[in-house]
Amino acid sequence: MSWQPADEATAAPPTDCPPVETVIVPRSRDLGGFDVRRALPSTRRKMIGPFIFFDQMGPATFAPGKGIDVRPHPHIGLSTVTWLIEGEIMHRDSLGSIQAIRPGAVNWMTAGSGIAHSERTPDELRSGAKLYGLQTWLALPKAHEETAPRFEHFSADRLPTFEGNGVEATVIAGTGWGKRSPVGVFTDTLYVDMRLTDGTKLTIPPEHEERGVYVLAGEIEIAGDRFGVGSMLVLRPDKPVDVLAHGAVHLVALGGATADGPRHIWWNFVSSSAERIEQAKADWKTGRFDPVVDDDEFIPLPEN
Ligand code: MN
Repeated sequence: MSWQPADEATAAPPTDCPPVETVIVPRSRDLGGFDVRRALPSTRRKMIGPFIFFDQMGPATFAPGKGIDVRPHPHIGLSTVTWLIEGEIMHRDSLGSIQAIRPGAVNWMTAGSGIAHSERTPDELRSGAKLYGLQTWLALPKAHEETAPRFEHFSADRLPTFEGNGVEATVIAGTGWGKRSPVGVFTDTLYVDMRLTDGTKLTIPPEHEERGVYVLAGEIEIAGDRFGVGSMLVLRPDKPVDVLAHGAVHLVALGGATADGPRHIWWNFVSSSAERIEQAKADWKTGRFDPVVDDDEFIPLPEN
């Protein structure tokens, strides 16, 4: 996904909920047939572990003939994770990858020194196409910011799952609840999709340095406070946090090791160095990124 203009989410400490450090409330924005809610970066909190960008896309059903068309655009300094709940997106990149992603699978793209890609609804699905999912970016540690770009697809059957006590979960990336995803993360990472039945109590252990919870459906209760759909909660570290489900809940737990310093984020570029971002801007403007296979459009560099 490409950066699109969206209002930065507002964030504030809760009034009286000790396990929760910050509540981020994204605002919804219509990007032409579908809504995006951006939870990261927020006004008060820029990152949760390696996660520096967190967008919920949809749920949406497009008009006949329509779909998502994110034309070729560049990235540096990050990995992107695409996780769909409904719909299908075709990924094409400058390494020559052409890969459809469907719900339950992961597209993991490490930009490193630079990659360009496009994401589109396949033409044959443009009759009431659906879109619902999460697009997240993880900042690369400084030592890996200039790693060679790569793209990997993980089908649903390769991702670890666990269920029981009212929980059904998939480890998208990193580790959680004793399971490890095969996605090749560069730093300690927590990214787990969870569905809880009404009344389920889930304990989020303190094994990850930074932890967040994003509510996709239902309502959760933490220490007596309730948080609804679209809330991103940043949890205080070092203690287990109990989450109680009200209704059928769908959430993701995310986080990981604290980043090794702040990151600059401009358009689709992430870097510890402002100069490196300027270089990437010049590289895109002058056509120094490799072309995306089978897709000759492009998104021009924004003017500001
Ligand atoms: Mn992108």
